[in-house]
Amino acid sequence: MTNKHLLDIETLDTQRIVQFLDTAEVFFDVSRRKVRKVPTLRGKTVINLFFEASTRTRTSFEIAGKRLSADVVNVSSSGSSVSKGETLLDTVKNLEAMRPDVLVIRHSSSGAPHFVAKHTTASVINAGDGTHEHPTQALLDAFTIRRSKGSIRDLVVTITGDVTHSRVARSNAHLLAKLGARVRVCGPRTMMPPGIERLGVEVFDDFARAAEGADVLMMLRIQRERMGEVLFPTAREYSRQFGLGKRVLAMAKPDAIVMHPGPMNRGVEIDPEVADGPQSVILDQVEAGVAVRMATLYLLAGEAGQSPLS
Ligand code: ASP
Repeated sequence: MTNKHLLDIETLDTQRIVQFLDTAEVFFDVSRRKVRKVPTLRGKTVINLFFEASTRTRTSFEIAGKRLSADVVNVSSSGSSVSKGETLLDTVKNLEAMRPDVLVIRHSSSGAPHFVAKHTTASVINAGDGTHEHPTQALLDAFTIRRSKGSIRDLVVTITGDVTHSRVARSNAHLLAKLGARVRVCGPRTMMPPGIERLGVEVFDDFARAAEGADVLMMLRIQRERMGEVLFPTAREYSRQFGLGKRVLAMAKPDAIVMHPGPMNRGVEIDPEVADGPQSVILDQVEAGVAVRMATLYLLAGEAGQSPLS
């Protein structure tokens, strides 16, 4: 049951995480070949069900499915009966009747993928649920860090920004801690969920101190769409205290890498010169996204004993 879906990182064991990452290596190579397609999921159907905006995640799931030879169908809330008031359960029951093998779902409600998993025989992949988790983002981040640093164990990773509203921060905190990194989270107190220390992270509200000696600086987007109230006086003030520019970057290790899940608010949480600078691996994260999502589709929907490339 637990291996049938990918709903969160919190309940995933370390061995399974490493399996996702190792399998993604195989598909990373496939994506750099001249012919970027393998027959692995021929005859399988993947439905991308996106109730929230997405550029990278939706596109890379689609490309991942196509590179594995699956049939991929995209459903978004604006072009579907969801905009006519259909419930999530009815949408899922109807899609279920078409016998998909995988449902990839993004939804603004935390827990929506877990609910869907109870009402379908397909494998369910959480592509981001509310402020809860975004497991494939954390896997692609870990994949990128591992490729850049060799290993994740004992690295100092500083995650900075709107931690309260960030499913990326939550999934990463779980995953990086499981793989032995030392995770720091940093942001204004108003953007820090109470009890976050329970995830085993160190909490900072001074960005320069949080960045000191870090191997990885992971920036988060200010999520205006999830803020019920204004949690910071102005974007300018936020940027002055928590935006990543050259001054704070210099506090980290000289070979530190800079990450951001996208979409970026340039000039708010990150300066363009850092986002586009030599330490940035932001586009490597995007490339890793396809490989990690191929690995996820293969591990959930491939036949038992089937090899990744045939
Ligand atoms: N794209 C990521 C997500 O969907 C990060 C973000 O939107 O800030 O959670």
